[in-house]
Amino acid sequence: MRDTIEKRLKAVNDRIRDASLACGRDPKSVRLIAVSKTVPADRVHTAIKAGATALGENYVQEAREKIQALKEEDVSWHFIGHLQSNKAKYAVGLFDLIHSVDSVKLAKELNRRAGASGKVQDILIQVNISGEETKSGIEAEQALDLVREISFLENLTICGLMTMPPYFNAPDKVRPYFRALRSLQTLIRQEAIPNVEMTELSMGMTGDFETAIQEGSTLVRIGTAIFGGRA
Ligand SMILES: *Cc1c(COP(=O)(O)O)cnc(C)c1O
Repeated sequence: MRDTIEKRLKAVNDRIRDASLACGRDPKSVRLIAVSKTVPADRVHTAIKAGATALGENYVQEAREKIQALKEEDVSWHFIGHLQSNKAKYAVGLFDLIHSVDSVKLAKELNRRAGASGKVQDILIQVNISGEETKSGIEAEQALDLVREISFLENLTICGLMTMPPYFNAPDKVRPYFRALRSLQTLIRQEAIPNVEMTELSMGMTGDFETAIQEGSTLVRIGTAIFGGRA
């Protein structure tokens, strides 16, 4: 198993490098988030020893235990799942970057909790770029207003945007959605809102990360290609 995770991680890093160079990007401008949801701590540890530096988790309770078990490791933890406001206090204590902020309510709660623990919390705005009803994330048309409204919250830094496209393992079908997220990023950046950085684009998973890199992704969230299929 150890061998497999090491080999897979290397293969993914090679593919990120190749995809970046092929479209004229510096490979260092794309960071790999190894998505470790449902993966036990010992296998995550193997990935860390093999060079993974950022881990992505979807469930607060599961992440809490794993982060505790791996607390000696010098890695960053990212929250990429749906976050309920009542879990905000835990999330602030656990995660370096929260990818899934999609409401004023959640942002305010995170701001309050960050302030209470003397932290400035980095966040991304999750955008429902396809407009499908079932997907979480704020509608693209409302994203700028959300950013404006929460830019005043002093314990948050809005670092960029995140999306989940409506298709899996269909790189050519998802390209327009990645492109749309990047356009939205450009539009928001042009507003030059104080306290808003907007440098990150979290997009691309196992089935489509090369397309995402071509379209400007800075954070690719990859689980299956590193850890294998989830039960
Ligand atoms: C599970 C998950 C991923 C990783 O998906 P893979 O297809 O296993 O690479 C990425 N982003 C989010 C939000 C996820 O929930």
